[in-house]
Amino acid sequence: MPIRSSSSDVVVVGAGAVGLAVAWRAAQRGLRVTVLDRATAPGAGTSAVAAGMLAPVSETIATELPLMRLGLASADAYPEFVHELSDASGLDPGYLRCGTLLAARDADEAEALGRELALRESLGLAVHRLRASEARRLEPALAPTLRLALEIPDDHAIDPRKLTAALARALSAGGGELRLGVDVRGVAIAHDRVIGVRLADGSEIPAENVVVAAGPWSSSLDGIPDGARIPIHPIKGQILRLHDPAGPGLLTRVLRMTGGYVVPRGDGRYVLGATMEERGFDTTVTAGGAFELLRDAFELLPSVTELVIDELSAGLRPATPDNAPAIGPGSIPGLHWAIGHYRHGILLTPVTAELVVGGLTGEAVPDEFSAMRFAGVPVRA
Ligand SMILES: Cc1cc2nc3c(=O)[nH]c(=O)nc-3n(C[C@H](O)[C@H](O)[C@H](O)COP(=O)(O)OP(=O)(O)OC[C@H]3O[C@@H](n4cnc5c(N)ncnc54)[C@H](O)[C@@H]3O)c2cc1C
Repeated sequence: MPIRSSSSDVVVVGAGAVGLAVAWRAAQRGLRVTVLDRATAPGAGTSAVAAGMLAPVSETIATELPLMRLGLASADAYPEFVHELSDASGLDPGYLRCGTLLAARDADEAEALGRELALRESLGLAVHRLRASEARRLEPALAPTLRLALEIPDDHAIDPRKLTAALARALSAGGGELRLGVDVRGVAIAHDRVIGVRLADGSEIPAENVVVAAGPWSSSLDGIPDGARIPIHPIKGQILRLHDPAGPGLLTRVLRMTGGYVVPRGDGRYVLGATMEERGFDTTVTAGGAFELLRDAFELLPSVTELVIDELSAGLRPATPDNAPAIGPGSIPGLHWAIGHYRHGILLTPVTAELVVGGLTGEAVPDEFSAMRFAGVPVRA
């Protein structure tokens, strides 16, 4: 599809990790891009809450292998992506090549971990079985009650707040426009194609193409006919941010256990997550949420109780009915989607940006992730 000249070739709704990366990549291809977000800072939605694990191997599920392959492709793209991004922005995107440990606390969990090992080995993924003593040599802060661990050397992490700050800076440096405090009411469509977006103040911004990257809030954009909408709902996650007054070193790898994870930032800061709750758009934080997170982490990392709490927050994972993202053009010409990244939006940021920008220039998106798979599907209000 040729992209004609107008005030904006592309308007992106949403300045989260996904929307900003799409916009940065589009600007690099010479498109005139404007990103709109109703928040007063970039990356203030779910991306600000995310832990930032880049963990396609740890998160492999036998029934979601296409998603695993997409995640692996994105994880592979990360080193070059962050290299380019730090050059373009002059900022450190906070990428940490730390690896991951999956840990079992008792015999049942050890048996389950054995099955996880077999699945990953059958798929040719890099994973090593560690006896408890071997794991504790790598991470001495682990509790003596540890039963078994798997080392996943290629699952790393990034600080999503640093990532979005760098993306926003790179976008501006690359000629894209970021407009904050702009509430988008809906998509403007005339003669069956997109002509721009309508704002809450009644004004319109014309554009040849609109990319919806508004996370779980994408469902409230109006103007999109039934059958062209994407079903999306929020899954709440509470998460703790902590730091060690003694500095870095307590934990050097991401630690994942049943019910949660601890992600080191490499500088003495840690993220401890996360609950999974179906509570609509509620983002209150609760004592029960914090208790659940600390209880699970404490069993494997007892010194977590000595860390200082900096923040307890809650975010809304944007989920589609099949848990896979909806990417690229949908059924209305000029309307593109970059939503539904659920638990993997930070991981999938580089590959999503490539696919969406490819879609803007007429390239196909794999069927499993194409927004077109929802064409004609009725969406509950
Ligand atoms: C607790 C928790 C932990 C997570 N951990 C990880 C992890 O370790 N690894 C990983 O890969 N993923 C993780 N995720 C998932 C990840 O956070 C999301 O998939 C990702 O942030 C989605 O990014 P996004 O850019 O699509 O959405 P967002 O970051 O939510 O951005 C959407 C933006 O759209 C804006 N917006 C919405 N509506 C409008 C409107 N009408 N007008 C203007 N602007 C609008 C919002 O203000 C927001 O800034 C986690 C999520 C949670 C909740």
